[in-house]
Amino acid sequence: MYDFTCEHCDGTVRERQVDREALRYKGTFVILEQVPVGVCDKCGARYFDASILRRVAEIGRGATPTQRTMEIPVDRYAPA
Ligand SMILES: [Zn+2]
Repeated sequence: MYDFTCEHCDGTVRERQVDREALRYKGTFVILEQVPVGVCDKCGARYFDASILRRVAEIGRGATPTQRTMEIPVDRYAPA
């Protein structure tokens, strides 16, 4: 799915199975689990296959039901 040269350096993008990845969708996030992301073996840049982005868009649009919904705490960064 990956194994191409990184856009940012001369490293190679390798597939890595990630337990949980938050992906941006129109100002919000969709979380996918057990997702094969591409990670550059040199600079660590992350890549997402088109099939992953399609899935995120489907879920973000509400076009497909999800297993569950997580509630995520949000706050402003306010150092003490
Ligand atoms: Zn790289």
